[in-house]
Amino acid sequence: EEEIPEDHPRYQDLLTRHRIEEGVEKGITHLQGMHAEGRGSAFDYLLGEETIPSADAAERAAAAHLLLADHPVLSINGNVAALVPGEMAALADVTGADLEVNLFNRTPERIEAIADHLREHDATDVKGLEADARIPNLDHQRAKVDADGIYDADVVLVPLEDGDRAEALDEMGKTEIVIDLNPLSRSPQVADVPIVDNIIRAVPNITAHARDLADADEDTLREIVADFDRQAALEEAEERIRSGDL
Ligand code: ATP
Ligand code: MG
Repeated sequence: EEEIPEDHPRYQDLLTRHRIEEGVEKGITHLQGMHAEGRGSAFDYLLGEETIPSADAAERAAAAHLLLADHPVLSINGNVAALVPGEMAALADVTGADLEVNLFNRTPERIEAIADHLREHDATDVKGLEADARIPNLDHQRAKVDADGIYDADVVLVPLEDGDRAEALDEMGKTEIVIDLNPLSRSPQVADVPIVDNIIRAVPNITAHARDLADADEDTLREIVADFDRQAALEEAEERIRSGDL
């Protein structure tokens, strides 16, 4: 295995790319995931590869939503599993959320491989293998979810989600938290909480906020949710990307 020197100026980006390559080799990530990674990497470069203030606010609002939820579910696809398996397990643990494998290119082998990979990273009770319910208004394969998972959830975190499914989940009336580096993509555009940040930075920061808010009362959490301005967050991210100020 190739070693990436930590003082390399593009260390994080190379590490991320390397994890996606490994994911493809292990049968966790679809080859299409490499293209998604390339798009994300370009946007991250323009953001300065850092969590901008509006993204931090979105991450705090996401933590508040997850703590307030009756049934929060964190959706896992091939890129998410390759990049942040242990970090998603930790977030599920802190917020009491379920983890559900949900794939755009769904095969039983890949679902199993991802569930195993998550368990190796201390996830317990991984959902998505039953696929006994359907999201309305989506074609058959992409609509499959667990009846006691995403179908039943009131709050869903869907990182790097396909636009059609993000729209369909929104139409189901769910509170949707999206992590996506492209503020113009449909998924963040329909999200209640669009997080324009690299998932590598976003997930640990949501967990840190959730830990910080663990003992907060319901009024405090509701205030954080109410104060978050989704449109301003999208605009701030787009401005940052267009400005060229690095
Ligand atoms: P659509 O409009 O149908 O959603 P798309 O071009 O956005 O099309 P996707 O498959 O949704 O296609 O692309 C994946 C999305 O995930 C891209 O917007 C990309 O910027 C984003 N992305 C990729 N890697 C990361 C990452 N590490 N962290 C956050 N976002 C990422
Ligand atoms: Mg998209």
